[in-house]
Amino acid sequence: MPPVACSSPPSEMLLSTPRFPILTLDEAKLTPALGYLFHRKWIDPYESLVSILWKFEKANSLSGRVLAHLMGPDIDPYEGIVPKLGVVDIDRLHGALGLPKTTLREALLAPTERRRFSATFRHCRRCIAHGYHSVVHQVETIYRCPAHHCALESACRSCGYEAPYRANVQLLETPYRCSQCRESYGGYGWRPSEARPMQAGYRKALARKYVGSALGL
Ligand SMILES: [Zn+2]
Ligand SMILES: [Zn+2]
Repeated sequence: MPPVACSSPPSEMLLSTPRFPILTLDEAKLTPALGYLFHRKWIDPYESLVSILWKFEKANSLSGRVLAHLMGPDIDPYEGIVPKLGVVDIDRLHGALGLPKTTLREALLAPTERRRFSATFRHCRRCIAHGYHSVVHQVETIYRCPAHHCALESACRSCGYEAPYRANVQLLETPYRCSQCRESYGGYGWRPSEARPMQAGYRKALARKYVGSALGL
C-alpha cells in the first residue's frame, strides 16, 4: 500500500509550537534539567504510549534508555515493560511530557473481560505513515484499522519479524520501522514540522471501535 503523502501542516500548528530550546538531560537523575520540547496537540485520541514516546524521541533526540526511564525509575530499559495500566508511572510521565493524565491513561493497555490485547506490535500502514499507532490496533479482536479499513499487520514485509509489544530500547529506538531490518512500516515517519491533527471521522471511528471492544461488539 503506498504511503500517504504528508502535506504542509496548518500554519496555526507551526505558530503554536513552543519555542523551547532542545535541552540537555541530567543523566544522573534521568529527568529533564530544564524541560522538553513537546506539544499536546501532537497527540491524537487513543494514541499508544509507544507512539507518544516515538514523537517525544523525535522532538528531543533522546535515547531509548532515557525514554524507558520516563516510565518508571526501576524499569530495565532493555527488558522494558508491556505498557499497560498499573505498570507505568503516570505521575512521572505527566511530569516529563506535560500531557494530561487522562491522555496517558488512554495510551495504556486496559484489558477488560472482553477486550484482550495482542502481545505483538500491530500497525496500520496508513496510520504509521502519519506517525500514529493506537491501543486500538493492539486489540486482539480488531483486524482492520477502524479509520482506514486496512488490514492490521504485525510481520515486517521485508524480513517477517514480529516485534513484541514491549516498550523497550529496541522498539523505542526504531520508530515507524522494523527493529530487526529497519524497513519502514509505512511512509517516512513523523516530524514535528509535519504534525497535523487526525481527521474528525477517523477519531470517531477509532473511539467507537475501542469502546465497543470492551463491550464485546
Ligand atoms: Zn489506520
Ligand atoms: Zn524487518
